[in-house]
Amino acid sequence: MVALKQELVDGAALVAGIGLVPLTQGNLSLRDPDSGHILMTPHDFSYEQMTTDDVLALDLAGNVIEGNREPSHESQVHLAVYERRADAMGIVHAEPIYTNLFGVLHKPIAPLHVGALIDVRGDVPVMPFAPSGSRQFGYDMLEVMGDRNAVVWANHGMLALGNSLQKAIHCTVMVEISAQLYHMALQHGEPHQIPQQYYDRLVG
Ligand SMILES: [Zn+2]
Repeated sequence: MVALKQELVDGAALVAGIGLVPLTQGNLSLRDPDSGHILMTPHDFSYEQMTTDDVLALDLAGNVIEGNREPSHESQVHLAVYERRADAMGIVHAEPIYTNLFGVLHKPIAPLHVGALIDVRGDVPVMPFAPSGSRQFGYDMLEVMGDRNAVVWANHGMLALGNSLQKAIHCTVMVEISAQLYHMALQHGEPHQIPQQYYDRLVG
């Protein structure tokens, strides 16, 4: 369990270090494959100061199994994903600026970059605005996502999942790169999409 907690703390430091979760925004989690418990970053706590002692372990119902910090207010959203998506082993909720740009426009992020298409498995849809602190938000969000691995929350960041925390982080970075590329390309005209005929081969 300590090794998994360290993986979470290291992942959070990485995501914070590249500016995807300004100050104490966002949250990360991973699933312990042995116990089925979810390890998660606490509410409103500095990523720079975070150690394994600050990590919470939750069961799928949201009961705190380990940890003294206040659980993230978005823990129920993560738990909804772990409940419904057996392939989810890691989740990142981040606040990258270019992704948020499309979130305030309520405009899906086209998979212009091949890395984003592979990670996300399509465009990044936008979940209509709703308060994010409930299980129902998670279920509604999963409806919007379908079988994709990322979704923009209107006016409030994004969520990415993966079959490991590293994959979820990679997906988060690819979405932000794609959003930045899309924004810049739109200044010059209408960008070319990756041809649909290649989608199946690329997303597997
Ligand atoms: Zn949030």
